[in-house]
Amino acid sequence: MTQRATARGVERTLLDGTRADVLICGASFAGLAVARELAGSGADILLLDRYEIGERQTSACAVPEGWLRTMGAERSLRAVLPDMTFTTPHGTVRYRLPWRWAAFDYRTLCEDLFAQCDARFETAKVDGRTGFTVHTDRGDVHAPLIVDALGWRRVLARDGYQPPDAPLSRGLEVHPAANSSDGALDVWVDRSLAPRGFAWRVPAGEEARIGVGSYEPRHHVRDPTEDLAQRLGAEAERWQGNWFPHRLRDAAEDGVFFCGDSAGHCFPLSGEGIRTAFHFGIAAGAEIRAAHAGERTRDEALARYAAFSASHARAFRRALRLQRLIPALPPRLLTVALRALSRQPIVDRMFGWYLAQAPPRG
Ligand SMILES: Cc1cc2nc3c(=O)[nH]c(=O)nc-3n(C[C@H](O)[C@H](O)[C@H](O)COP(=O)(O)OP(=O)(O)OC[C@H]3O[C@@H](n4cnc5c(N)ncnc54)[C@H](O)[C@@H]3O)c2cc1C
Repeated sequence: MTQRATARGVERTLLDGTRADVLICGASFAGLAVARELAGSGADILLLDRYEIGERQTSACAVPEGWLRTMGAERSLRAVLPDMTFTTPHGTVRYRLPWRWAAFDYRTLCEDLFAQCDARFETAKVDGRTGFTVHTDRGDVHAPLIVDALGWRRVLARDGYQPPDAPLSRGLEVHPAANSSDGALDVWVDRSLAPRGFAWRVPAGEEARIGVGSYEPRHHVRDPTEDLAQRLGAEAERWQGNWFPHRLRDAAEDGVFFCGDSAGHCFPLSGEGIRTAFHFGIAAGAEIRAAHAGERTRDEALARYAAFSASHARAFRRALRLQRLIPALPPRLLTVALRALSRQPIVDRMFGWYLAQAPPRG
């Protein structure tokens, strides 16, 4: 069960007039990665989120294992998954990856990332921005360096971003109790579940995360998620879902750094957005650190970060093309293709390329 810990009533004092050197809006994967990168910089850092750190899980929480080490968050590990299975209506193919997935606990990971930061944290709902003043439900906060890590809504941008017209996918999952894992992250490409999308099961120790994602935002995913849970003999309980982007957006706009889903950093095709939130969050943090130290101006830091983000555009476009192609393939042909690709050197090459787009560091 989600524990509600957000400050309420008299604890919700005004922040009006608060100043910080760096204001990071959003304290999930992207925001915490930026703050962690700034630790020890001497900057006065304020993190804002409408929920307490780790209170609201935002995903199935699977990342390439190396990224848990990179982020110093090994304590959150719940299961290691060296294989992936891909199931179509015509068969199942199992791949042994050249690296392993790790399923982790969201709250533990967020708490461990926050413990590595030297930032202040406040719960507040961010409503918008005028210049370098951010408006929240607890008053205005000012900072010369501002990060939008608020997720797909991109709250601090000039223009809104609304489904179903925006390039967003939707995902929904259940978290039933489970106690066995055969060491694989399971994927279904099955039009009866998602005409343009995929479904998954992530074993995570004492629970499984079973869900359906649709690249077409107009397609609903609740019934298919229930259907898949039933097929797998699992309870459709503890629901969570959200939109996730599948196109890169400008990572710098009007003096603000955008990181993670707010910049469209979620990888198309797989909908994997945690390690990319880390990857781009670290890059933004490094630029902000340099700007705070006076090594470059804010505009130079923004331009360098935007260029770093844009340097990934080719890989994102390639994945988006596959996201469009794969659901359009006749299922029998897709099954034959998945089998043909299952030779180990090919698997190593494909998944090696995939990891290299945002590789773990260190
Ligand atoms: C069902 C589902 C399963 C997924 N599974 C995976 C997976 O297994 N692996 C993977 O890599 N990716 C997965 N993703 C994608 C992944 O969840 C996102 O790409 C990732 O969460 C992006 O991180 P972020 O920090 O940019 O944004 P978020 O994690 O969305 O964090 C945004 C933060 O901002 C806060 N916030 C939002 N609006 C406001 C506001 N107005 N005021 C104050 N605070 C606000 C939120 O509370 C939240 O803490 C999944 C997505 C879905 C929908």
